Amino acid sequence: MRILVLGGDGYLGWPTALHLSDCGHDVAVADNYARRGYDHEMGVQSLVPIEPMQVRVDAWREVSGKTIKSYYGDLVDGDFTTEMIRDFRPDTIVHFAEQRAAPYSMIDRKHAVYTQQNNVVGNLNVLFAIQEVDPEIHLVKLGTMGEYGTPNIDIEEGWLEVTHNGRSDRMLYPKKPGSFYHLSKVHDSHNIEFACRIWGLRATDLNQGVVYGQETPQTVRDPRLATRFDYDAIFGTVLNRFVIQAVLGHPLTVYGSGGQTRGAIDIRDTVECIRLASENPAAQGEFRVFNQITESFSVGEIAKVVANSFDGQVEVEHVDNPRVEQHEHYYNVKHTGLVELGLEPHLLSNTLIESLFGVAEAHKDRVDLGAMRPTVNWRTASSPLRTDS
Ligand code: NAD
Repeated sequence: MRILVLGGDGYLGWPTALHLSDCGHDVAVADNYARRGYDHEMGVQSLVPIEPMQVRVDAWREVSGKTIKSYYGDLVDGDFTTEMIRDFRPDTIVHFAEQRAAPYSMIDRKHAVYTQQNNVVGNLNVLFAIQEVDPEIHLVKLGTMGEYGTPNIDIEEGWLEVTHNGRSDRMLYPKKPGSFYHLSKVHDSHNIEFACRIWGLRATDLNQGVVYGQETPQTVRDPRLATRFDYDAIFGTVLNRFVIQAVLGHPLTVYGSGGQTRGAIDIRDTVECIRLASENPAAQGEFRVFNQITESFSVGEIAKVVANSFDGQVEVEHVDNPRVEQHEHYYNVKHTGLVELGLEPHLLSNTLIESLFGVAEAHKDRVDLGAMRPTVNWRTASSPLRTDS
């Protein structure tokens, strides 16, 4: 298959491109390197050094003999997006290329507007380009479990059978997202479903949980192939951040009571889910939704797992929650679609966490302690950024 990975320079896009290439697909990546720009803006960096795209693709050619074509451009530029798709002629487009940090979208008006413009307009341009170039292209779009929020009923895979006043219909599952970023993903889902219903496009929306881990069988083949490892309060995902705090001998900072429960997934399963969705496309006209998680944990449970796996003393500190979210709530998610396609999940294990401790230990001199304290407050319309730099 010819597969175009949008956002191919990112934490997940790069390892996904390598996995798909390793499985024999003809892969291209596209990125505008906005993510590297947010690092400069926020004064943070990936714990593990990452190479420029040209070095990455050259290194992959050296170790695998396979070529990954690279496009540089912004999806918000509709002409660029259409011409790139016309040039590469993919069978599948995997779309990771969005601003993906909830705290970033909650900094102030400018960051909220940027996030929604970048994500919603970029995704619309992809839909229009598919319609114009080849409506048979399968769109595999990364959504998030945060689109659903934490409703007091079971979370289905995208759709809900509703009976109201004696009549029934299959409706998009109602969404209660928790940030302007998560809202952008809800808007994307609606736009994609509309394009499938009206134009007959085919798409898979993957409502992914929080991803943890940093290594895949391909990225470990050469240090130049490493993907990013974010631990700061804006872009760091919670398990990765706890691992670094443990290695540094700092308390694990749990927001509020820690009862907030979320779906989670190992990065090795993320890349495999993308392969499975790509190789088993949605039918023409179908808007297919999978919940891409393998397990659910509360933040407090994740802190306990990290503390228990670490060979040393670890304290847990409860800090005021800067986010507005329920601390104790019902959470029961259906996630059978990807398993039915053949996913064999890697469940969170001590082995994985120990390997992450190794990654953190190897690069701990690069840690910037100030970057880990939360600065963005959901309750205000404008948050000050770092005060220590
Ligand atoms: P990331 O920020 O590391 O990667 C996204 C990439 O997209 C970056 O390289 C960025 O430069 C690029 N990009 C952003 N806007 C662009 C634009 N307009 N044009 C071209 N390129 C653009 O993020 P990630 O962690 O790899 O996440 C990838 C996707 O998966 C995102 O859509 C995110 O919402 C989703 N997701 C991630 C997680 C997670 O835990 N990391 C969880 C759920 C969903």
